[in-house]
Order: sequence, then C-alpha cells, then structure tokens
Amino acid sequence: MIEEPLNGFTGFARKDQHENIRVPQNVDALKRESKLIYDEEKLDAIPEPERRWAWIEIDRSAIRHNTIDAKHHLRPGCRLLAVVKADAYGHGAVECGKTALAAGADYLGVATVDEGIALRKANITAPILMLSEPPTTAIPLLLSYHVMPAIYTVEFAIAYGEEADLHGMKAPYHLAINSGMNRIGVKAEDVIAFMRKISFHRALELVGTFTHFATADCDETLDYHIQLNRFTAAIEALKTAGIDPGIVHAANSAALYRYPEAHFDMARLGISLYGFHPCRDTMGIADLKPAMSIYSRITAVKVVPMSEGVSYGMNYRSPGSVKICTIPIGYADGLRRGLSGHQNVILDGQYCHQVGNICMDQCMFEVDMRSYGTRPRLDPQIGDKVTIIGDEGDAVCTISEMAFTLGTIEHELTIGFSHRLPRIYV
Ligand SMILES: *Cc1c(COP(=O)(O)O)cnc(C)c1O
Repeated sequence: MIEEPLNGFTGFARKDQHENIRVPQNVDALKRESKLIYDEEKLDAIPEPERRWAWIEIDRSAIRHNTIDAKHHLRPGCRLLAVVKADAYGHGAVECGKTALAAGADYLGVATVDEGIALRKANITAPILMLSEPPTTAIPLLLSYHVMPAIYTVEFAIAYGEEADLHGMKAPYHLAINSGMNRIGVKAEDVIAFMRKISFHRALELVGTFTHFATADCDETLDYHIQLNRFTAAIEALKTAGIDPGIVHAANSAALYRYPEAHFDMARLGISLYGFHPCRDTMGIADLKPAMSIYSRITAVKVVPMSEGVSYGMNYRSPGSVKICTIPIGYADGLRRGLSGHQNVILDGQYCHQVGNICMDQCMFEVDMRSYGTRPRLDPQIGDKVTIIGDEGDAVCTISEMAFTLGTIEHELTIGFSHRLPRIYV
C-alpha cells in the first residue's frame, strides 16, 4: 500500500479508506443503494432558512399598503398598473403581482416575454403589458399567453398583426411614444405617420398609448414639462385623426405622486409598490412601507486578539475588545462588496459594524464587548438572528442607506439580491 499525504497531512487518513466514498450518479441510484437515509418528502420539508441561515422576508401587507396608497392619489376610475418586471424588483413577481391585483391594481407590467408567461403560468388573468417590443420570433408566445406588447416599429406591428390574423385572433397592443427619453417609442411628432403605416391591419388593436418620463424624479422640471407637452400633443393628434388612443398612460412612481396632470387613464407603479420613494420630494406626499427585509443567523463567534486581521486583505484589525461574528451572506447573495466596512447590521436591537471585506458567501461583524452608558452588553451566540435590512427595536437598516453608500438607486440593490436567498412571504 502506498502512503500518500492528503492535503499535506499525514497520519489522519489513508487513501485506501477514502476509496469507499463513492458518490452515486443520481437520486435513483442513491435510493437503490439506500444511501438516501430519509424519504425525499421529509428532506423537502426542511425550510430553506433552516438549510442556510440567510433569507429575505417579503411583507405582503406592505405591498398591499403601497398599492392602496397609490390608488388614493389617483382619481376614481384611473387605472393602476403594477410594474413587476425583474421579478418584481427582486421581491417575487407572482406573489407581488397577485397581492397588488388583490389590493386594486388593474394591470401588470413586465419587461420580457418570459416574465409575462411566468405570471400566466401562475394563473394570473389580469391584462399584462410588456413594456417593450420583443423580437418578432417571440410573437407566438405573446399571442398564446395573452401578453400585450408595447409597439413602436412598423415591422413588428405588421408581423404581430399577420400572425394573429392567421389564427383568427386580435393583436392587442399599447403604442409607445418617445416624448424625449429617447429609449424606445415612436417619435411624438411621427405618431400619425406611424399609425397610417399600420392601421390598415385588421387584427391590430390599439388598447393603449403611453410614454415614459426620464426626469419625473428630478428637481429640475423643464424636461418633464417638455415630455408632457409632446405626449399630450401626440394624443390630441391621434384623436383629431379619428384614432382612439385607448388607455392613455405616462406616470411612473415619481410622476404618480408629483404630477397629477400626468395620471391620464392609468399610472405605472414600480419602485413605490415596493415601498421606496423615487425621490426626496415624494416623502411628504406618499406613505410607503418597504416590503423587503433581510435576515441571517450567526454561524461563528470568536474573540480575535488585538491587531489580528479579519477577512480577505485583513484591512480591518481587531481592537481586542470585540467579538467577531460570522453570518452566511455575501456578495454572491447581492450584499455588495463595496459595502465592506460601511454597513451596519442589527443584533438584539443594537447596531453592529460589519467589518472586513465582505466575502462571496459570508461576512463578519464586530460586537463591542465593553459596556458603556446605558447600552446593555451584547452576548452573541451561534444561531442568533441578525437583521441586515429591516428594523428591530429602535434600530433600522434600510436599502435606501445602502444605495446611498454605494452611490446607486434602491432598484439596483433589491434586484441584485440573488435567488440563492429564499424569499419568505409573510
Ligand atoms: C420600469 C418602468 C416603470 C416603473 O418605474 P418606477 O420609477 O419604478 O415607478 C414604469 N414605466 C416603464 C415604461 C418602465 O420601464
């Protein structure tokens, strides 16, 4: 027998002992060999936060509250479209879509065909608007799952109409107008020419006409007004030409709260549905509750001697008077590495500094073991719940602070919390 050191160790293990450890090829093989000790149902029943101590909680009542708050700002009869693109900004499209609809939303908005299909597969029957034009190759999917596209090219409009006609169907759509953001849409002054090019098609059905504001959340209002005027003119031109623009809509969250004149027949609520203010200006106007909280549990606690480093790069050194706690959440979960050393977490209602570089799957925070003032000394233990986003007692950690630290917007952060973190709906 040949003795081989394993990973530099000698004497702990011999290679021949390890040869018994074979990994069966699949679950069936596991069962056959009776290596799957428990039945699968029992294994599946172990909740995700008990498999890994890091999870997201989504508060449905906050989604409901925010939907109702938006509705209060719209005149009776004005529709509300809940924007659930990008998996409801990371909150879960099916759950949030259903909650918003139950609370009074009329429409759902998505960014991709597959996002629309996922809602249909979850038995959602409300109208779904895809906020852009997919490739023409996706048209059969739109028609089969009744996902309405935004339309702004002649080629797509004709292809969509033809395909629908082939099956004796209607091809409902919303016309996208470019009033100045210059992302998508038919240029406002070209709207009549565009409609002339496509309106001969009997299957095409104009259900709505919309535009999108680039600066509804900005202090400066000139660009907003230019966009509003161009859009209003385009709607008037359609009406004058005898074309019914259908449901007219323009407002995103910021415009919904700041500009009642932009409500028209429907508003599209995105970021505020999830409880965030699109800008400082809406803080006195909208009553919003963030729906997302993020929690973890301590997996390790240690006293690190003074001046010893913590985490990659060791750019944090222990002052000696702290305990270092590890939590199993890192930048692979969307806890951005740029937050390293600039983020608090909450333990037992007290703020603790995250310290050292945030790793891919874990990070560390310090608990000050000195007692001072009236602050009770913390006694961190493995398994203790830690709030990363949310409130506990008087302490609160928000996505908005995180966004400020990183110089980004809340949207990017909530979307960035990866699906490795289970979403628990409460
Ligand atoms: C994303 C999006 C919205 C939602 O915007 P918020 O600022 O998040 O409310 C509305 N309309 C369109 C066209 C969008 O793309």
